[in-house]
Amino acid sequence: MRSLTPNDTIGVLGGGQLGRMLAMSATQLGLKAHIYCPDDDCPASQAAAAFTKAAYTDEKALQAFAAAVDVVTYEFENVPVEAVAVLQDSGAEVRPGAVALEKAQDRLVEKEFVRALGVATADFHAVDGLDDLEAGLARIGRPAILKTRRLGYDGKGQTRLTDKDIDLHASFEKAVAFAWDEVGAAPSILEGFVPFEREVSIIGARGHDGEIKLYDPIENVHAGGILKTSTAPAAITPEASDRIKDAAVKILTALDYVGVIGVEFFVLTDGDIIVNEMAPRVHNSGHLTADACAVSQFEQHIRAVAGWPLGDPARHSDAQMENLIGEDVDRWRDAAAAPGACLHLYGKREARAGRKMGHVTKLTGPA
Ligand code: AMP
Repeated sequence: MRSLTPNDTIGVLGGGQLGRMLAMSATQLGLKAHIYCPDDDCPASQAAAAFTKAAYTDEKALQAFAAAVDVVTYEFENVPVEAVAVLQDSGAEVRPGAVALEKAQDRLVEKEFVRALGVATADFHAVDGLDDLEAGLARIGRPAILKTRRLGYDGKGQTRLTDKDIDLHASFEKAVAFAWDEVGAAPSILEGFVPFEREVSIIGARGHDGEIKLYDPIENVHAGGILKTSTAPAAITPEASDRIKDAAVKILTALDYVGVIGVEFFVLTDGDIIVNEMAPRVHNSGHLTADACAVSQFEQHIRAVAGWPLGDPARHSDAQMENLIGEDVDRWRDAAAAPGACLHLYGKREARAGRKMGHVTKLTGPA
């Protein structure tokens, strides 16, 4: 793998806020960011040295992009693997590679991969039709959650099946048919409901040479399937923290990973940990690292994909990050005025419901 030098260019597939923050960190390190995104005026293009507006299926545009950059990375995990193949065929190096994408894009493949590493997941059952769903429910029991295998995010593409739903639909068959319809009759996975005490994530990085650096686990609260707050440190025992770190090291190593990964966990009352999912990219729960750590997750990812030494992930401050979702962003002036608050806005013009518009990180004291 070639290491980049200052003034080289990092190509980023995807133009959202994660790409924007990656571009800002690349710029800080004297590197250039070139964003590839199908949408005009995306948050990332506003902060980047170069921008290609093209579809992920546009082979010519992908080939030109590959020729214009020194390495390619991505800011969302649903990048079509075909686009990655075109880039690689054109001579571009894509980090993290296609293997991490393939595992993270399919919830069934992801769970099988995690289990094979000896790390626990929720009980699961592959569902390709109504018969599978009924068999899965009979085995796993209720409550359970039906999730599409692909393209789900922020609680989209999933539905719960509880005893109450079955009462509501007057029959088991009707409730099952309704749930199947809710996920669009797409290949899915049925998961047993995990009675977790807390949701915790870890942000980890692996460099070209296999060096691994982990941030401390972060505690997350979701509302309506969307991340609301992230807090560091997480209120978990040192043993639970060690288990989470061990799992992250196993995952990073098995994927021969280069870059930053976010892994989400459920922590049970007895301190056992269960992997929920992994994102082969910088992660919303890691935003607080930008204000509370010596080196942010964005800088760490740029360092890793550039083949540079990884930075120190130590936290100098405890912190809580709050996502500004939809109209929450109207509070930006108050957030800007609050002592100890670090305001980040993503440059999105329209505050639609459920849309992540920015975040505020409050530094709550020395770490
Ligand atoms: P996901 O899209 O898989 O991250 O799910 C979104 C949120 O739904 C999670 O952060 C949890 O709060 C909840 N959730 C998902 N799967 C489960 C599960 N198997 N058991 C309990 N809660 C879950």
